[in-house]
Amino acid sequence: MSQIYDRVALIGLGLIASSMYWAIKRAGLANEVTGFARSEATRDTARRIGLCDRICDTAQEAVEGADLVVLCVPVGAMATVAEDIAPVLKPGATVSDVGSVKRHVIQSVAPHIPEGVHFIPAHPLAGTEHSGPESGFAELFDNRWSLLVPVEGSDPDAIARLRAFWEGLGSNVDEMDADHHDLVLAVTSHAPHLIAYTMVGVADDLRRVTDSEVIKYSAAGFRDFTRIAASDPTMWRDVFLTNKDATLEILGRFTEELFALQRAIRTGDGEQLFDYFTRTRAIRRGIIDAGQDTDAPDFGRGKAS
Ligand code: NAP
Repeated sequence: MSQIYDRVALIGLGLIASSMYWAIKRAGLANEVTGFARSEATRDTARRIGLCDRICDTAQEAVEGADLVVLCVPVGAMATVAEDIAPVLKPGATVSDVGSVKRHVIQSVAPHIPEGVHFIPAHPLAGTEHSGPESGFAELFDNRWSLLVPVEGSDPDAIARLRAFWEGLGSNVDEMDADHHDLVLAVTSHAPHLIAYTMVGVADDLRRVTDSEVIKYSAAGFRDFTRIAASDPTMWRDVFLTNKDATLEILGRFTEELFALQRAIRTGDGEQLFDYFTRTRAIRRGIIDAGQDTDAPDFGRGKAS
């Protein structure tokens, strides 16, 4: 892989930005990568672990002269950061982001982008429940999808360059419209996270009754929920506040299905339950066949973990 941008600036230094940095270095996609995070503690950690070629004390300093600026902060912080860096963006530069919600980011960031600067929102569909500058790793995006969500009238060359950059990070790349993105992600990510948060919350209430048996005998199903429900509270608060309509739409459908299954259990309709579970099992097979998960038993955790 060869260099795609001379200088890249990463604003926000959590899981996604740190993974991007290590993947940029792995493939030699940029000559210099600068970084900025809000707190001194995070900037100090970044310097200590060698994250980014240069850590700056202000966002403006980090983006000055950058050819690509990637906003890697929670969705609710994107507008403030965009407003702050706007005056120093280099003409011809590209501003992108990695936010999990796209319509809201476009509405809140686009008005701050000056004439002559390209704005191409993006979203890598890769993550873990860990956060912070020490959680990143170069392989995070390998063979995962990254979606580019260009706004109307975007420059095709700037889009092609950003696509090559994400491919260089290891991703497969697709383009998608913002509203469609937000609906798809509500189904595949946002609603499942809310359900996991709820299930773990319910178990926590129950724990008070059964005195820790829920934890002690925690079986695979519940453990998988707890992993998802350990995800960063700020990030997920912002996702639900900014992808409100699509999430509520999917949760409405979810509730209807849940009632239907509840009824099947009450009436002893085994056939309905069996058919439903057969259909969902086929979806799992499809995900494995598409190379998006492992079919190792217990997700490859092994006996020790
Ligand atoms: P993270 O690990 O929690 O890190 C967030 C970073 O943003 C931290 O360095 C934080 O700085 C910084 N930050 C927060 N508010 C800021 C502000 N106002 N100005 C400057 N920096 C600020 O987050 P992440 O998981 O990398 O997520 C970043 C973005 O990627 C989010 O928009 C999220 O929706 C999206 N995303 C996440 C995942 C995932 O699975 N985690 C997957 C795809 C996309 P401090 O450390 O100093 O507070």
